[in-house]
Amino acid sequence: MPDDLVIQNGLVVTGDERGTIYERGYISSSNGMITGVGPSDQSTSAEHVIDAAGCVIIPGLITAHTHLYGILLRGASLNIEPPTDFAQVLQRVWWPVDEALTVEDAYASALSASADMLRNGSTLYADTYSGPNSIEGSLEAIARGTREVGMRGIVAFEMTERHNPEEAERGLREGIRFIKSLKQDTLISGMMSIHASFTVGDEIVIKTVKEARKHNVPITVHTSEGLVDLYHNLEQSGERTVERLDRLGVLGPKTVLAHCVHVNDHEIDLIAKSGASVAHNPMSNMLNAVGVSPVPTMLKRGISVGLGNDGWIYDPFENMRCALTIHRLASGNPSAISPEQIFRMATLGGARCYNLENRLGSLERGKFADIVILDGAKVPTPLTKESVIGHLINTFTGNDVRDVIVNGTQKVENKKLVLTSDEHITEVSRKSASSLWSRLKK
Ligand SMILES: [Zn+2]
Repeated sequence: MPDDLVIQNGLVVTGDERGTIYERGYISSSNGMITGVGPSDQSTSAEHVIDAAGCVIIPGLITAHTHLYGILLRGASLNIEPPTDFAQVLQRVWWPVDEALTVEDAYASALSASADMLRNGSTLYADTYSGPNSIEGSLEAIARGTREVGMRGIVAFEMTERHNPEEAERGLREGIRFIKSLKQDTLISGMMSIHASFTVGDEIVIKTVKEARKHNVPITVHTSEGLVDLYHNLEQSGERTVERLDRLGVLGPKTVLAHCVHVNDHEIDLIAKSGASVAHNPMSNMLNAVGVSPVPTMLKRGISVGLGNDGWIYDPFENMRCALTIHRLASGNPSAISPEQIFRMATLGGARCYNLENRLGSLERGKFADIVILDGAKVPTPLTKESVIGHLINTFTGNDVRDVIVNGTQKVENKKLVLTSDEHITEVSRKSASSLWSRLKK
């Protein structure tokens, strides 16, 4: 079968295990799958040919943890007493927002945040939605917004018992219903999500793990993001957070622990032995002043670490840069973590979190054709095989993303969304946000 897409003459960073880079390379795809990657060959009979001369070609970046509805809070001035610690950030900002959300907000934020991530070079997100008054139908609304943009998404309802146990049961049912409704969807899949160890009892955690295993989907949980989680568990059962999750059977190769800021060596051992992964959110951790996750140690122990944004800044390049600097500052060691490790986190590391490394995370034959083309015209120093990883972390931003291909189809062309318009998205998103803001002020 002839290729339907060929991208040629670009500097191809495959992101494979060996770190293969082609200074003037090509990538071809057919039926959404990569059929070839290598040095450029001018002769092609493909239907669609993209000339990427002067550009850098990378795998679609993976956002390993996000909250799409966070986009509706951009610029909101909330009439609240300023929080002085993380528990108050949840109590005064996020939990009132969760309660005010509607299914329409879930759709509008998915549309807007997916567009923001895709334009900035991310082709897959893993989202957890939290809205106790908009449970039923929320995941389908999120999927609809995401499909309209053409991005990949792993979608979940975040269960919590902070109001009552019934709320968590309804969240679990919404997750199961949604997962069962997905039939061979190429872009959207589902997972199970528990808000955090300190907002759920043992019973619902065990039940959720059972359902996740039964439906063979990943399970995610915010883990010791703030000290409130750790202290709650120590007080309730004398266990640290990861110790409790281990006792309840949460840890395993299909488990993604978000944050892991306050974890000690024993907890890191438990994570490593279980094969669980970690979604690191450095910008959000700085924003909420919760501390620094021991990521360099986790990487040394062989734990798969992906990079998330936790619903704040959706540009993966900003998140990569922050991941590089936060660990150097925290350790006082300017070599604490390398640009290669950071790029790996945003690509194959993220794919490994969700057991998708055979499908996504690098540009290799047989994987899905999720490809990002960056315009190298404004790079001020030589752009070569040797310098390109440095440029990906030090120079490029999401604004340099020129084209984005998802599943072999172009979804961003010359910085414009192909399937829908920026104007439409802004209109829907502003309408939803302004109504949410006025509900929050009541
Ligand atoms: Zn989160």
